[in-house]
Amino acid sequence: MSDCLFCKIVSGEIPSKKVYEDDCCYAFEDIAPVAPVHILFVPKKHIASAAGINSENSEVVSKIYEAIAKVAKEKKLDGGWRVVSNCGADAGQTVFHLHFHLLGGKPLGVMCDD
Ligand code: 5GP
Ligand code: ZN
Repeated sequence: MSDCLFCKIVSGEIPSKKVYEDDCCYAFEDIAPVAPVHILFVPKKHIASAAGINSENSEVVSKIYEAIAKVAKEKKLDGGWRVVSNCGADAGQTVFHLHFHLLGGKPLGVMCDD
């Protein structure tokens, strides 16, 4: 998608701090971290949100989770970590390219405040 921010990050058109990459997945540091470790994992192929996951493309989700577990180990998040994927406006999704936030490095508290 030519006007998608994360497609531009994957292609290198917009710079990012790369953490991990394989054939189907790219991971980079969030520009506005809310935890000591805050990394975004995205599929290289554009999917707008978790609502767009289907039997044709869902393999990328398991690949991304494998990557997340690997990076969490590398970052020594031994006390625990959280994965979040906001889907749609009510969830606060702001970039409409599927992504998974990996958060950790401190006690994360409750997930929703109301
Ligand atoms: P969402 O709110 O859609 O779940 O998450 C989007 C995330 O993308 C936010 O945490 C935001 O800080 C991050 N973000 C937005 N623009 C950029 C950018 O240009 N570079 C990077 N590295 N992260 C971004
Ligand atoms: Zn995209």
